[in-house]
Amino acid sequence: MHQLTLAEIARGLADKKFSSEELTKTLLARIAQLDPQLNSFITLTEDLALEQAKAADARRANGETGALLGAPIGHKDLFCTLGVRTSCGSKMLDNFKAPYDATVVAKLTAAGAVTLGKTNMDEFAMGSANESSYYGAVKNPWNLEHVPGGSSGGSAAAVAARLLPAATGTDTGGSIRQPAALTNLTGLKPTYGRVSRWGMIAYASSLDQGGPLARTAEDCAILLQGMAGFDPQDSTSIDEPVPDYSASLNGSLQGLRIGVPKEYFSEGLDPRIAQLIHTSIQELEKLGAVIKHISLPNMQHAIPAYYVIAPAEASSNLSRFDGVRFGHRCEDPKDLTDLYKRSRAEGFGPEVQRRILVGAYALSAGYYDAYYLQAQKIRRLIKNDFMTAFNEVDIILGPTTPNPAWKIGAKNSDPVSAYLEDVYTITANLAGLPGLSMPAGFVDGLPVGVQLLAPYFQEGRLLNVAHQYQLNTDWHLRSPAGF
Ligand code: GLN
Repeated sequence: MHQLTLAEIARGLADKKFSSEELTKTLLARIAQLDPQLNSFITLTEDLALEQAKAADARRANGETGALLGAPIGHKDLFCTLGVRTSCGSKMLDNFKAPYDATVVAKLTAAGAVTLGKTNMDEFAMGSANESSYYGAVKNPWNLEHVPGGSSGGSAAAVAARLLPAATGTDTGGSIRQPAALTNLTGLKPTYGRVSRWGMIAYASSLDQGGPLARTAEDCAILLQGMAGFDPQDSTSIDEPVPDYSASLNGSLQGLRIGVPKEYFSEGLDPRIAQLIHTSIQELEKLGAVIKHISLPNMQHAIPAYYVIAPAEASSNLSRFDGVRFGHRCEDPKDLTDLYKRSRAEGFGPEVQRRILVGAYALSAGYYDAYYLQAQKIRRLIKNDFMTAFNEVDIILGPTTPNPAWKIGAKNSDPVSAYLEDVYTITANLAGLPGLSMPAGFVDGLPVGVQLLAPYFQEGRLLNVAHQYQLNTDWHLRSPAGF
């Protein structure tokens, strides 16, 4: 039963082949047996899950239908969940039980999804390897010595290991697409404003966006359907009708114009990954797509711009964790300053402290113009490059990551080398565009992803291209040995 996709689960539940309660019990037992190897969950919500599963079964018995009704999922541990610890992977929030559900959680729960638990993540979503979590590193099910990517690494590892059919993630600079690529999943970062950020603990508010991680594009369509939509409680949510994503999956790719940016194939890219990307291009050409060579000339400036803007916003967002209102508080503070200092020094891990320092520096008087303002200008140039490209092409294709998953610990002494791994993903966040990563093959037994980017609100187009590709390839069906 653990091999079933969301789409298959929906059919099985509708045909009464099994109940949501049976499925939930099977997956909880599997998590108990296998997750000690992976560390993909921070908190399990067994009682809540069984209660929700029974309620979903009762709703089905009453004639209700719905693709998510009774479907087990997990939530990245930065989506607030009523009465459940929501830690953001940090000691700072180790004792925080959210007093409300994030909009994403509320919407999925209303659709009948069953929450099995909260998945592990890089602390405050800062990282590309899931090594900065207070709760320990997550292992990649394809090779337990390697990272699963991050920051949604717990969601990715759990879905890849068939502990769950799908999970939520968030993507500020690649944290859905990159772990999807490194664990052989399909992951979608929606257009900025498509999915509500209300109740999603903020890292960099102008870049953060929630989205689905699953094994297939078909399942991403189902999960996104339950997540997307206008939310008056999020001032950056966009009031744009949500299309039927599952209905968008069957379009022909005949004449689809795919742009391949020359900047994506520079020296940093593992040549074996380049080869797999070329093979996936040929596959799409067979389905009728037309390749156009394009240029995104400002891409080289993306990493420096992102690593100014994201820490700047983070330093502001994280100032609320001061030991006073909620979160970790140090013992016996001497005075108020001591309380702030020690609570924050004890509650935040080294990567989070590094980002707060960088962000506070970039925003300080005297440096603001030189760093933050410049970075914002680069951000506009990057967006303009995409707008020019999308005059000529329908989607943009390239690698999701320059390298496959690295060994746990390999980049610990050199944070910048980890930042460089984000080179292909962060531009979509800077421009607010939707992006998807899908499985495209293996290098040394480790998965490789191909990334597709589309114009604003064209999530359906991305899902369609990925679905057509998955109807004609079987990379996404491979499962890791031992799971
Ligand atoms: N790796 C990037 C960072 O560390 C992106 C993280 C994310 O998307 N949350 O900032």
